[in-house]
Amino acid sequence: MRSVTVTILGIAQDGGFPQPGCSRPCCSGVIEKRSPVSLGIVGSDGSTHLFEASRDLARQFKIWYDADPQSGPLTSLSITHAHLGHVDGIGLFGREAMGASGLTLYCSQTFSTLIEKTPAWRQLKEQGVFIPQEWISGIPFTPSIDCGFTITPIQVPHRDELTDTHALLVTGTKRKLLFMPDHDSWVETLSGSDIRSWLRAMRVDIALIDGTFFSTEEIQHRNISEIPHPTVKESLERLGPKTSGDPEITFIHLNHTNPLLNENSEQSSIVSSLGWSVGQEGQKFDL
Ligand SMILES: [Zn+2]
Ligand SMILES: [Zn+2]
Ligand SMILES: [Zn+2]
Repeated sequence: MRSVTVTILGIAQDGGFPQPGCSRPCCSGVIEKRSPVSLGIVGSDGSTHLFEASRDLARQFKIWYDADPQSGPLTSLSITHAHLGHVDGIGLFGREAMGASGLTLYCSQTFSTLIEKTPAWRQLKEQGVFIPQEWISGIPFTPSIDCGFTITPIQVPHRDELTDTHALLVTGTKRKLLFMPDHDSWVETLSGSDIRSWLRAMRVDIALIDGTFFSTEEIQHRNISEIPHPTVKESLERLGPKTSGDPEITFIHLNHTNPLLNENSEQSSIVSSLGWSVGQEGQKFDL
């Protein structure tokens, strides 16, 4: 049996990088594009599982196949919430593109209700492209019988306009990985705890966490209350340097304005000097 492998298939925030319509220095000279957040997991039985469905699936499947060669149709799709970059590729599974059939779509109950209310998605369900399977917060599920890992949905506070939002905890045979691309604030998510204790309570070894904005300075043209996220700066202040026994913490879901998209920026060196990291597309973890 092979080990369970997770590959990062996107590190950008929902708008992608470069972001449409941005003519500022962050996007004007971009050569290397980045896709919205996504993970690909290959189970110990060779089954394949995707987290999030972005519009960049063609590019993302290529990154996945290059990093972790595999075959066969996708076994399951899990979606954390209904904001743009997490769902805007759902239609690609339909008849006009991949023509999937019987794909299991794991999601929350509110997401499943949204499928019924969204004509284009309801049609995909009625055509048998995907079969929604509702998870229960806090209860681990096995996305296919012999895949060798479980997924535990953990509800997190995030402006829940269309659906609620979950982080996904993947438990393999050796290690646990937390995927938490979006949440509103550490104060609400931790409710009195601190980041280390919160991750330790879940026995997380690798945490891929919301790094949307490095600091509020980069988004002075937007109202932060409309798009709340803890800044990387705040996360670093709460964490301090990595110490022995700490999990690996990797920032993902980077807004186009985020200097962490440039690995030579001063902010990138601050993150690495503290012992933490920034996610890379194609980066692979063994669980
Ligand atoms: Zn997002
Ligand atoms: Zn930009
Ligand atoms: Zn969101």
